[in-house]
Amino acid sequence: MSTPATVMPLPVRSGGPIPEALQRLRATFASGKTRPLEWRLQQLAELERMMREHEADFAAALQADLHKCSFETALSELGFVTSEAKYARKHLRRWARAKRVPTPMMALPGHSYIQPEPKGMVLIIAPWNYPLSMVCAPLVGAIAAGNCAVLKPSEVTVNTSAALARIIPRYLDPDAFAVIEGGVPETTELLEQPYDHILYTGNERVARIVMTAAAKHLTPVTLELGGKSPCLIDKSADLDVAASRIAWGKFINAGQTCVAPDHVLVHREVAAKFTEILAGKIKEFYGDDPSQSPDYCRIASERHTARFAKMLEGQTIHTGGQVDVASRYVAPTIVLDPAPDSALMQEEIFGPVLPVITVDEMHHAIKFVADRPKPLALYVFTKSKALEDAVLDRLSAGSVCINDAVIFMVSPELPFGGIGNSGMGRYTGWYGFETFSHMKPVMKRSFRFDAPLRYPPYSDFKRKVMELVR
Ligand code: NAD
Repeated sequence: MSTPATVMPLPVRSGGPIPEALQRLRATFASGKTRPLEWRLQQLAELERMMREHEADFAAALQADLHKCSFETALSELGFVTSEAKYARKHLRRWARAKRVPTPMMALPGHSYIQPEPKGMVLIIAPWNYPLSMVCAPLVGAIAAGNCAVLKPSEVTVNTSAALARIIPRYLDPDAFAVIEGGVPETTELLEQPYDHILYTGNERVARIVMTAAAKHLTPVTLELGGKSPCLIDKSADLDVAASRIAWGKFINAGQTCVAPDHVLVHREVAAKFTEILAGKIKEFYGDDPSQSPDYCRIASERHTARFAKMLEGQTIHTGGQVDVASRYVAPTIVLDPAPDSALMQEEIFGPVLPVITVDEMHHAIKFVADRPKPLALYVFTKSKALEDAVLDRLSAGSVCINDAVIFMVSPELPFGGIGNSGMGRYTGWYGFETFSHMKPVMKRSFRFDAPLRYPPYSDFKRKVMELVR
């Protein structure tokens, strides 16, 4: 079994002690430095340059933290951030422009518009599973909208956190951005302070802590959470293509992807065939012994790995099932029909274990999903338009992807976010800009024609005219 290389974290906390960093950022925002579009465009360009020039450093850190291969690093970490930044640079002038809206007759002559303005100083708290992109992709929206930002990477992926803290201040304006490393004490200290927005990505339990802390200051929050994203497979689906796409979506990053298929609900007539094809794809992708594959990630910590050993106890394992806590390895695993009350079906799996649950009819699968909390992502593989419509009509989810898994994340045109237990708010592309902006409504009146209709003393005549011009 290959053991991940270790990159020693630097004992540097950029941005200094928390109160000083926050004071510096607030002063910068108040000075107006972050407002000009030129400044924002330049910071976005610097972010892209940072990704280019430090690809090797970030790749080494991600390799040490998650055994992430350079292909996945390029695709889902550096590539995700770079394409977000490029897209924002391309569209920023249009996004930031005031948008004219109609003015009702009662307020004529005059005109109305919506003027986006930066919120101020924002806090971005990131998890460990995509430890670089979950800091830097929301940051793109914050920069584009003209904010200062405090960045809190996850302490679980210590090498990536250290790399971000070391490298970001060399590229982004240190007066406007601060990386605060640390764990629960540091995040708790950060959360005691007021911000103009908090974007938190992580689990539901900590989301409640974040939202409670934010409530004290009436700080708006975006919560990017997880949950159990189901994957429905109809008998009409192309099973070979479905299995490839599901195996990829499930086993990239060793299943530690918020939108990874959590479990599969497959029609009884094709269940055995689908499972066999899926097992074949695992072999095709990662070889006979996935622990030797350079393309297969490790679990973030021994603690997280041990959880899988426990989860798999007593389950019917079709493929995989090997767990090695010391090397943080969990094999790509298929479990057959786990009990609905087992941990595997009660908790978000968030790892390379895929339960395959057989259903007699697809409407049973729809009911199964409808009876549970709204997921972050929902997948359905079918050639039936009627089933596709039924799924879209009956089921709610953060995002839906028909006949593929995870790939919808590449589109900057689609907002990304959850609903209900899977989160609130959204970002990527325009939606990131919108999240970190206040859309300020402005109405400008003329001094001409000051009709006294709305002024006292009121009369029935005035009321009738007012109703006409409303
Ligand atoms: P984590 O343990 O790294 O925690 C996330 C952040 O919360 C860290 O920065 C950490 O310092 C902070 N934190 C942890 N405990 C805290 C506490 N008690 N008080 C204050 N701050 C605290 O990551 P995680 O939560 O294990 O992340 C995995 C979860 O994130 C999964 O549920 C996954 O689905 C979800 N996720 C969602 C998205 C999305 O975009 N919707 C993306 C990635 C991950």
